[in-house]
Amino acid sequence: MTENWFYYLEHILEEQLQADLGRDLVSVTSVNGPEIEVQGRRVIMFCSNDYLGYTQHPALKKAAQEAIDQWGVGSGASRLVSGNLKLYDELEANLARFKHASSALVFPTGFMANLGVVASLAGPQDVILSDSLNHASLVDACRLSRAEVRVVPHADSDAYADAIRREKSRKVLIITDGVFSMDGDLAPLAELNEIAHQYGALLVVDDAHGTGVLGANGRGAFEHLGAETEGVIQIGTFSKALGGLGGFVAGPSPIIGFLRNRARTLFYTTALPPATLAANLRALELVDEEPETRQKLMRNIVRLRHGLSQHGLKLLPGESSIVPVMVGEARTALAMARELMSEGLFCPAMRPPTVPAGQCRLRLSVMATHTDDHIDRAVDSVATVSKRMGLI
Ligand code: PMP
Repeated sequence: MTENWFYYLEHILEEQLQADLGRDLVSVTSVNGPEIEVQGRRVIMFCSNDYLGYTQHPALKKAAQEAIDQWGVGSGASRLVSGNLKLYDELEANLARFKHASSALVFPTGFMANLGVVASLAGPQDVILSDSLNHASLVDACRLSRAEVRVVPHADSDAYADAIRREKSRKVLIITDGVFSMDGDLAPLAELNEIAHQYGALLVVDDAHGTGVLGANGRGAFEHLGAETEGVIQIGTFSKALGGLGGFVAGPSPIIGFLRNRARTLFYTTALPPATLAANLRALELVDEEPETRQKLMRNIVRLRHGLSQHGLKLLPGESSIVPVMVGEARTALAMARELMSEGLFCPAMRPPTVPAGQCRLRLSVMATHTDDHIDRAVDSVATVSKRMGLI
């Protein structure tokens, strides 16, 4: 019987590999940063979510080291039992202030925050309006909720309004990324907030890639767009611009209180380690203390976009640190990524199911710690390889 399983799984995997959709786990053999060592080669990193370079920030390392000395390396249990170290209280209070919300709750990861929040708020009797390009964790969260899911065309606020008008009696949850993780563009948050208010729906926004990056004070996509956060369920993660680990939700106190009692991904898993909690706390402070890092990131984004556009490369428009260069087919994207690696640029190909078929791309992500030289070399490499592949 077991052989049947092996045969079946081998067959499925072979089909995936034949379609150029195989996945590889690449070993990184140096400290993460704007330049790293992969497969024994020194390459420029253009696929990290460490947008502000915080994973290597001395202040965060110090906070983590001190927390280890004071608290040890693990939390020992779930938050519901004895793992709820008092660092959580401080972190959640600061996070609520940071996100201009009345309350906040921290989960072990952003993926778990999405699962816990959506599956707790919506049930089989409800309807979820979900953007067609939402992150996989939101897609899975919708499935877990067992609500009826209506997939709405990407960032189309009229389509949300049409869909919600048809709902006469069911409760509605609107769910969207703030910054879309593969396209780098933004959801129409002001419009969605207005629709949610008008029709009594709840708006849930996963701003994993906006937090720490966008807005005059790094608060994220809402601040960047000048949109109200009142009544909104804001989800995010410490694992991208903030350099650490841990998901979170910030919003009205009654909703956070409800989630504190219901979210299974909060209870049935071990609490974050002290070092991570302490580093996350320090990261929130740094966003305010060092605005110049964010400003440098913005300059780098503009420089990269400008350079790539000058070569006639097809970019998706946007202002976030995610810069997608559209390629098309999986085979081409994969070949390009391999050639880029041999040119000294680390930027994997994004292929289905991460992006829709035929819309494969190189997804360059910009860091504040990139120098002008890193950016210019990335532009040259992408242009050279694109010419070789007949894309430009
Ligand atoms: N939401 C979005 C939009 C993401 O891109 C990601 C990570 N790729 C997550 C959630 C998950 O966050 P974490 O890595 O903290 O689990």
